[in-house]
Amino acid sequence: MDRTLLIIKPDAVKRNLTGNILKHIVDAGFKITGMKMIWPDKEMGGKFYEIHKGKDFYSWLVEFISSGPIVACCLQSPDAPKKLREVVGATDPKKTAPGTIRNLYGTSVGENVVHASAPDENPQREIDFFFSEKELFKY
Ligand code: UDP
Ligand code: MG
Repeated sequence: MDRTLLIIKPDAVKRNLTGNILKHIVDAGFKITGMKMIWPDKEMGGKFYEIHKGKDFYSWLVEFISSGPIVACCLQSPDAPKKLREVVGATDPKKTAPGTIRNLYGTSVGENVVHASAPDENPQREIDFFFSEKELFKY
């Protein structure tokens, strides 16, 4: 079994989409092994997204992720990082496949309702960012 990190972003939490998105995730076969709602400050948001430092959208992204509560979830399934990216869809909701979470709920390339760890960008680092090992349920 593999693990990955999902974040329900502030745009989705504010629009009360948390339940819809979690149902989509569970229906896709993931087990939720950790979940917390937190309101990150800019320092935390900037650190989480430090891989994007220097890009033109970085400061917008840090403002956005710290603009309200988020829900961080550790998810478990076979091939979890790759599978979650498929269920979430591509970055731009307008260009991604029909039926993906971003296609269903996203409103723009920035406000795209969820973050999903990239399989090649160390999902475990992102899990560790929000959870200690003893906070995670072992199925
Ligand atoms: N983003 C943005 N403008 C862009 C590209 C990305 O506002 O042109 C935001 C968007 O919220 C995205 C996040 O920055 O989800 C991280 O970008 P990345 O390219 O890693 O996309 P993701 O991995 O989330 O699909
Ligand atoms: Mg990314």
